[in-house]
Amino acid sequence: MNEELGNLRKRLDEIDERIVCSLADRQKAVNEIGELKVDGTDGLRDLEREEELLSRVVDRAKAAGLDGYLVTRLFREILDFSVRRQQEHLADRQNPDRAAQKALVVGYQGTDGAFSHLAGIKHFSTRDADVRFKGCRSFQGMLETLRDSELDYAVLPIENTTAGSINEAYDLLARMNLALVGEEIYKIEHCLVALEPVPISRIRRIYSHPQALVQCGIFLDSLEHCHVESFADTALAARKLREDQDMSEAAIASEEAARLYGLAVIKRGIANQKENYTRFVIVAREAMRFDARIPCKTSIVFATRHEEGALLAGLNVLAQHHLSLTKLESRPRANTPWEYLFYVDFEGNVSEDRVEQALRMLAAKTSFMKILGSYPTRTRKGEPVVEPRPPRRKKTRPSKTPADPAGPAPAVLQMLEKKAYKLVSRANRVKDTQIHVGSVVIGGERPVIIAGPCSVESREQVFACAQIVRDQGGQILRGGCFKPRTSPYAFQGLGYEGLDLLEEAGHAFGLPIVTEVLHPADVERVARQADILQVGARNMQNSSLLKEVGHVDRPVLLKRGMMASIDEWLAAAEYILAHGNQQVILCERGIRTFETATRNTLDLSAVPVTRERTHLPVIVDPSHACGTWRWVPALSEAALACGAHGIMVEIHPDPDKALSDGPQALNFERFGELMDRIQRVTESRPSA
Ligand code: PEP
Ligand code: MN
Repeated sequence: MNEELGNLRKRLDEIDERIVCSLADRQKAVNEIGELKVDGTDGLRDLEREEELLSRVVDRAKAAGLDGYLVTRLFREILDFSVRRQQEHLADRQNPDRAAQKALVVGYQGTDGAFSHLAGIKHFSTRDADVRFKGCRSFQGMLETLRDSELDYAVLPIENTTAGSINEAYDLLARMNLALVGEEIYKIEHCLVALEPVPISRIRRIYSHPQALVQCGIFLDSLEHCHVESFADTALAARKLREDQDMSEAAIASEEAARLYGLAVIKRGIANQKENYTRFVIVAREAMRFDARIPCKTSIVFATRHEEGALLAGLNVLAQHHLSLTKLESRPRANTPWEYLFYVDFEGNVSEDRVEQALRMLAAKTSFMKILGSYPTRTRKGEPVVEPRPPRRKKTRPSKTPADPAGPAPAVLQMLEKKAYKLVSRANRVKDTQIHVGSVVIGGERPVIIAGPCSVESREQVFACAQIVRDQGGQILRGGCFKPRTSPYAFQGLGYEGLDLLEEAGHAFGLPIVTEVLHPADVERVARQADILQVGARNMQNSSLLKEVGHVDRPVLLKRGMMASIDEWLAAAEYILAHGNQQVILCERGIRTFETATRNTLDLSAVPVTRERTHLPVIVDPSHACGTWRWVPALSEAALACGAHGIMVEIHPDPDKALSDGPQALNFERFGELMDRIQRVTESRPSA
């Protein structure tokens, strides 16, 4: 080997050694803090301190020439692990039997490398014990082995974010006398794997677990030439390829299973939904107690009495005790046709008084109730499960909200009564609507920054834009793929090819994406890839398109038509809500007036007026409003000052070469200046 390369590798080995030692040192300190917290009253997790720590390390990383995102990602993992360690420590101190378990046998259904196995490895990595895993043939066999004390715990998949609940798991939990003591969330990344890296066209048979086949249904439908076969688990399907040595066979399995069985990954990301998670529960023979400071979830199962409104009465008990439901599932009750068992998960711990009271009252309203257990929660609402959030800019600006808890003033109500819209009206809903897109909240206190190119032009261009949006603390990536151009000879966009690039760029940089959809026939397909659908100014009154986006479960960004009054714009939003989809974000983007100095005239008065008339969030697009990059920063600042929930701006790595709307695009340096300016004003303003 070249001597220089050898020396460099040696240096890397030494650095890695130091990283590991530092991590071990950090872990020791975390353990000591954990011990101090055992008898203390301090909370286990201080989210504010975590955010401070993150911005500190990001600043430090940037000063040292490192990517802030990489450091955020690493530190989120480290912080998460540390909190879990402290929780485990506390649980051990409060459950002496648990602490005494130094060698654990954990069961899962399937073969080595199955997703249940991987989830188990993740879950038990923070336990202070030697853990041995044992594959079992079936869920029932596994739980019986646990009941008979041959296992200490079992890892049972209970629901998947694409395929839904796993019925057999629910039915077994109702029937058997076992307890839930934990949960784990595992991101399922399905890959198509084969013996060698062959082209997909050579594959004739595909094997996998039925759940995986459902989760990759759209991809499989596109492979008409393939025969699809169910297998007991994904890893077993991978193992079969190894045994058969047949080059026309493939399996859907994890990358880890491919590695374990020496297979090649021929395609990644084949699931219908890119965010595909499975929730597993950790089952034990006895329930466990968890400290009230650990955020917990409680699972129960009950059957209602034969009384009108019985389910509602039961759920009301939970609501009255301020217990927030995270899951409600019903299953047929064994041997009693047309009767159901209800499974409920809610945030709370049986050791809390309010939970104990609620459960007592609930029991009185049911004909059967069983508490499956309270356990540390691994899902937190509004946060991605494992993906790190982009580095945050520190402060938030509470946007001035006209949402008076008492509701609109009588004069406003009277005026709203006469309008052509009902569902979007503030009279119908007093509280501001907040729209959640991944971990981004639109319509909350923190203004949302959406940025990206007018049109997606190439991989390089859209990736460069995504990177700068993320690095500057923007939250959503925009990019046009179907362009509604005034002239038929102008660039019309890259269509679905562009959407694939936008999706990839968003995914690579952890940003949700928004793109315009022009035709009703494209809505369903675009909605599969885009996180937000944009209906452009030229289509604001296209009622077929409005109805179609009203039928999908995707937030819609509805631009104001350039000749539309505020009430016409709200009536257009009403179309979407009236067809079912309540997630509309309004976007003011300038209207036509006699003024010609700007491309359009930005109607900023629309922001407070609209916020008075509707509960929907309102953002501003200053780029299309003024048409010239130089005025974009001033208008952005003004938009936020008058209460917009965010802004959307166009950026381009080289605006002079842009295929559309170059004159209004900010280059990356100017975008950085805009973000600094926004941050300065939002920080200096006193809270509303
Ligand atoms: C756009 O945002 O890409 C666009 C075409 O805007 P508008 O519909 O406001 O003209
Ligand atoms: Mn544009």
